[in-house]
Amino acid sequence: MTTDIARIARAALVACGRRLDALGFTPATDGNVSARLDSATLLVTPAGREKGGLEPEDLLVVDLDGHVLEGEGRPSTETPMHLLCYRRRGDVGGVVHAHPPVATAFAAAGVPLDAPVMPEIVLTVGRVPLVPYATPGTEELARSLEPWIDGHDAFLLESHGVLTLGRDVREALHRMERVEHLAKVTLAARLLGGAHALTDAQVVSILGPGAPHRPPAG
Ligand SMILES: [Zn+2]
Repeated sequence: MTTDIARIARAALVACGRRLDALGFTPATDGNVSARLDSATLLVTPAGREKGGLEPEDLLVVDLDGHVLEGEGRPSTETPMHLLCYRRRGDVGGVVHAHPPVATAFAAAGVPLDAPVMPEIVLTVGRVPLVPYATPGTEELARSLEPWIDGHDAFLLESHGVLTLGRDVREALHRMERVEHLAKVTLAARLLGGAHALTDAQVVSILGPGAPHRPPAG
């Protein structure tokens, strides 16, 4: 059973890496992906590798303190950021970090994607806050997320890129794709005079009253 979970998780991470690469979200060796295996371990992509060229055996098993338990090489330099997500959010089973170009442009310009402008995004992603800049690959980046990690499933990392969470890798990947789509639509709408934000009543009618991911008003 445990072996099956690990095999499925490895296949999901490899597929996610290929998808990120095909979408142009992880140029060169950028980006990193992880999946929770059980309450104490996760699977993470290795540092310095193209995400489109990974094989299942390239992935590393680490514990929640970041110690490598299985696999060759070094885990992603952003492993501390992934660990923070799993430690703080018991509902998270997959984490994707990438540099999709349009959403990363919003992050570079310091512009959050937190207005409710598309029903599908409200329903599946929620607000995308701008997390203040911290140096990539450091514990500081993980700490910068702490104030935002509860209540959000997608984040713009200022002057850096995008982080998404999901119940599994597939859901985190879909959120990544949707954040980039939202960024493209928002950019185009700005050329046309600006997107119209949905009203609070419209948001409630999408999510239902008291929904766990209902964005705060205002
Ligand atoms: Zn990055």
